[in-house]
Amino acid sequence: MCQNFCSWCSAERETESHIFLSCKKSWLVWSWFQNWWDRKFWLNLFYAIVWSLWLARNEKVFYGVNTSVVDICTLTLPRLSLWMKALDPTFSILAMDLLITSKSIKSWTNLLKECRLAVWAAPPASSFKWNVDGSFLGKPSLSALGGVLQESSGDFQCIFSCPVGYMDSNWAELYAIRKALEIYAALPFLANVLL
Ligand SMILES: [Zn+2]
Repeated sequence: MCQNFCSWCSAERETESHIFLSCKKSWLVWSWFQNWWDRKFWLNLFYAIVWSLWLARNEKVFYGVNTSVVDICTLTLPRLSLWMKALDPTFSILAMDLLITSKSIKSWTNLLKECRLAVWAAPPASSFKWNVDGSFLGKPSLSALGGVLQESSGDFQCIFSCPVGYMDSNWAELYAIRKALEIYAALPFLANVLL
């Protein structure tokens, strides 16, 4: 076998993108995890999979050991569990739990999704809607505010964002509302429009 070809499939040159993504074996590993994704979880999962693929590739190249897709996935889980626990103390799912079923991680990620879930609803025809928000790191902390004005079609009519200094998060939220009302009062094209 040509040394530059993939040690698993021998079908393509062993580039980084082939080893970690497009090789059939790698792709099957990614596919196995694809339903588990959450942003924080996914970042750690990404590194855990890449690291596991690299170790499996080395096993093949240096020792001729052909690690199966199931074994690569299974070996990814303890790494993932340990890394998640190190980065997020709320993560309490053991590798053994993940080995038995992915249900626990799915419910953990769904819990996070539920916390973040916010669905925009269009205002009635001929009306406009402000969505405003205050952003902050703590209570109190350096804060900022922002807002978007949209019409019923969803098109943006106005966007604002600015820092507001060190304050309590509730004040940042209130300032965001006040800023939106100031803009509403100042823009001539909004004079006869319902908010
Ligand atoms: Zn390959």
